Amino acid sequence: MREKLVIVGGNAAGMSAASQARRVDPSAEITVFEQGRFISYSSCALPFLISREVGDSEALVVHTPDWFREKRNIAVSLRHQVTDIFPARHSIQVRDLDTGKLLTCPYTRLIIAAGARPVIPFPVAPDVKNVFTLRSIPDGTAIGDILDSRQPSKCVIIGAGALGVELAETFVKRGIHTTIIERGDRILNEFEPEIAGTMLDILTTHGIQVSLNSEVEKIIGSGTGSGQVWCRGDDSREFDICVVTAGVRPENQLAARAGLDLNRYGAVAVNDRLETSVRHIYAAGDCAATWNLVLRQSEYCPLGTTANQQGHVAGENAAGGSKQYRGSAETQVLRVFGHDLARSGLTETRALRNGLAPITTVITSRDVPRYFRDSKPVTLKMCAEKLTGRLLGVSLIGPEGTAKRIDAAATALFARLTVLDLTALDYGYSPPISTAHDPMLIAARDLAAKLI
Ligand SMILES: Cc1cc2nc3c(=O)[nH]c(=O)nc-3n(C[C@H](O)[C@H](O)[C@H](O)COP(=O)(O)OP(=O)(O)OC[C@H]3O[C@@H](n4cnc5c(N)ncnc54)[C@H](O)[C@@H]3O)c2cc1C
Repeated sequence: MREKLVIVGGNAAGMSAASQARRVDPSAEITVFEQGRFISYSSCALPFLISREVGDSEALVVHTPDWFREKRNIAVSLRHQVTDIFPARHSIQVRDLDTGKLLTCPYTRLIIAAGARPVIPFPVAPDVKNVFTLRSIPDGTAIGDILDSRQPSKCVIIGAGALGVELAETFVKRGIHTTIIERGDRILNEFEPEIAGTMLDILTTHGIQVSLNSEVEKIIGSGTGSGQVWCRGDDSREFDICVVTAGVRPENQLAARAGLDLNRYGAVAVNDRLETSVRHIYAAGDCAATWNLVLRQSEYCPLGTTANQQGHVAGENAAGGSKQYRGSAETQVLRVFGHDLARSGLTETRALRNGLAPITTVITSRDVPRYFRDSKPVTLKMCAEKLTGRLLGVSLIGPEGTAKRIDAAATALFARLTVLDLTALDYGYSPPISTAHDPMLIAARDLAAKLI
């Protein structure tokens, strides 16, 4: 029988799944339903659409529906929202958002790749304009257009995670006075505090106000066309434009209604083949749980890298192949004001929270030897398990070009290497490229000495 593979969602996970399924099964009928107007685009580049470093939204689209139809024989229906899954009948219900018509579509295998939705954890008065989240091309276009047409002078960003910090740079580059409001007592919570602290100094140097320990209670209109963010303790801030970057939640409603299991973060629970708890249904990307390969437990890590990996594996398996999803070290890199940040694995705090006994070191070395005039510092924190020396995580900050050093840490975490192993690795060296003793090597030696 000819397989009928149906995919919900047409971005990183969905289109990776569709492409891989086609490679495995040249004869399957593959259909993707996407509720929006775009598929297969770089969400990660949306801040650069707003800064105008990327000229127009079309440039972010990797492949169009026509390309998928012609080159891969994959049917894509835009503006089609999947409204229900009926596992017992092996079918879904889909609404054509242009006509309002409902249709029923049978499947032999289904992949849910519905992504995540931004969270706004406080009320926003209905009359307030210019409050945004950033998830899709229309969001990015709307924010960019406001900056072009209204030239706002004050921006408030709520949430100091990676996206909030990236966006702060974007607004500053466009000449806008920018404040970041953060509920916690630090920025970039997923990074080690020593690394995040350096970034906080950099943000402040560039004129960004960062208000920590400030919990937003509401956003109201100010009567002048702009708005006000009210924080606990009657602290308020005016804005012309506000972007809420307070995190995302897995898009799980379809799955929950269909009776699929969720993990403790609300992500669709999957096994290592990315099968959900219901037969013939798979899940991948920001809607799905991720296997954390350091903790060896189900977590949630909404990153593009994971979405692509999981999509590939789910597509392969749904098409009759056999591939294992081996997990994520939650490796993440970003560049802000010419400084690279990177992390892979656990922070010390997260290791402790999960019952591990970590030892750590923080070292500052150089990207290239000091005798070069533009040699710059690289700060790296490494965390290992006290008893065994197994590497648990690395965070670093340095000049442009240093972030991808984290891939060595990601590899070591995947292989469950110890810091002693790391002291024996053969790191590449040439003066214009690195120091003779790589920062990873220096940190590993330091930790190895603490083990003995
Ligand atoms: C601004 C920004 C910057 C980022 N930067 C980075 C970065 O630098 N590095 C990194 O690794 N990650 C980054 N990410 C995260 C990365 O983009 C996501 O992890 C990735 O896009 C997830 O892909 P996905 O396909 O799982 O979900 P999505 O990209 O959310 O796609 C899901 C799709 O499903 C569709 N959909 C949902 N429900 C339905 C339904 N019922 N019917 C039909 N269609 C439906 C949605 O419209 C959407 O198009 C960034 C994200 C954003 C927003």
